[in-house]
Amino acid sequence: MSEHFETSAIRIQSERSQFYEHSTPLYLTSSFVFQDAEDMRASFAEEKQKNLYSRFSNPNVNEFTEKMVKLEGAEDGYSFATGMAAIYSTFAALLNSGDHILSCQSVFGSTHTLFTKYFPKWNIETTYFKADETDLEKYLTPNTKTLYVETPTNPAIEVLDLEFLGKFAKKHNLIFIVDNCFATPYLQQPIKFGADLVVHSATKLIDGQGRVLGGIAVGRKNLIREIYLFARNTGPAMSPFNAWVLSKSLETIAVRVEKHCENAQKVAEFLENHPNVSLVKYPFLKSHPNYETAKNQMKLGGNIVAFEVKGGIEAGRNFLNKIKMCSLSANLGDTRTIVTHPASTTHSKLSEEERNEVGITAGLVRCSVGLEHVDDIIEDLKQALD
Ligand SMILES: *Cc1c(COP(=O)(O)O)cnc(C)c1O
Repeated sequence: MSEHFETSAIRIQSERSQFYEHSTPLYLTSSFVFQDAEDMRASFAEEKQKNLYSRFSNPNVNEFTEKMVKLEGAEDGYSFATGMAAIYSTFAALLNSGDHILSCQSVFGSTHTLFTKYFPKWNIETTYFKADETDLEKYLTPNTKTLYVETPTNPAIEVLDLEFLGKFAKKHNLIFIVDNCFATPYLQQPIKFGADLVVHSATKLIDGQGRVLGGIAVGRKNLIREIYLFARNTGPAMSPFNAWVLSKSLETIAVRVEKHCENAQKVAEFLENHPNVSLVKYPFLKSHPNYETAKNQMKLGGNIVAFEVKGGIEAGRNFLNKIKMCSLSANLGDTRTIVTHPASTTHSKLSEEERNEVGITAGLVRCSVGLEHVDDIIEDLKQALD
């Protein structure tokens, strides 16, 4: 059915119970029962599609997964307790000792730790490339198995060219994995550009209200099968309650993300004209170096705006101290606008040189623009900058 995005996000629903409920109930059950020995045997043999045990599947989790599969244009999916569980399990299921990962340089902090601290324990090495590099052949080894990227990246808001990377991955037979957390499927569907798998932290814009943690991997059926088998035996499953919340969240994702982006665009334009701001990075500003790529692969610019306050580390910290309404918090993609100063917090352990490498300059502030009235958001940023 060629249903519109909004309709799928609302109307995909698990089967009704005997109560004919309108909204899907919460199925808090660890396990499921069988009619007889034959029913049980056939269910375990996967001759029937039945829920057996909530570590494997559950009606609420299935509903959330099914919606995300449809919204991303994927074949299949599996939902996880967190975004990091999804990312870790995807690699752990698909890679063998000796395999090599090619990844964009700017990846989520815990993903970076996974690549640099833990995967080498199993003899899996990662090579990083910069967002605008196009000569990637030189990084390939006979063991390169996956190409991994985020776009837009956190917190430098670089935009990588998915079409180019999709073709590169196909040519070299790499499994192309995209962390689509910053864009959501409403803004960008990496599978259209050749991604084999898309991973998400559902904790961010998918929940969108700062309530629950969640993650998901969607993509090719054969790859998801491997991920599912790994997950069903290692136990990073999403809870039915979180799935219920997240499935409800998806019903409003289109209107929420649309408004987030509208607000973020206005905030970015305001910042670009403020004398105490030396640089603004937002994919849909004409001044963004990858504006054309962003326009080609994203519906709108997203809700994260990064900007450089004049005066370095101290100016960045001062700006945060003057903020009145916006929250100082590590999360993003919430209804509430959040500001952070990466150089003195999330990335303070890196040297200045390492920070500059990934585009985290001393005065860089990351703003996750929320759904408050945009005039109030701008007013708060303005009084802190002035
Ligand atoms: C938050 C985040 C993650 C990790 O998700 P959790 O749900 O916190 O485990 C992964 N990738 C990106 C881009 C994120 O922003």
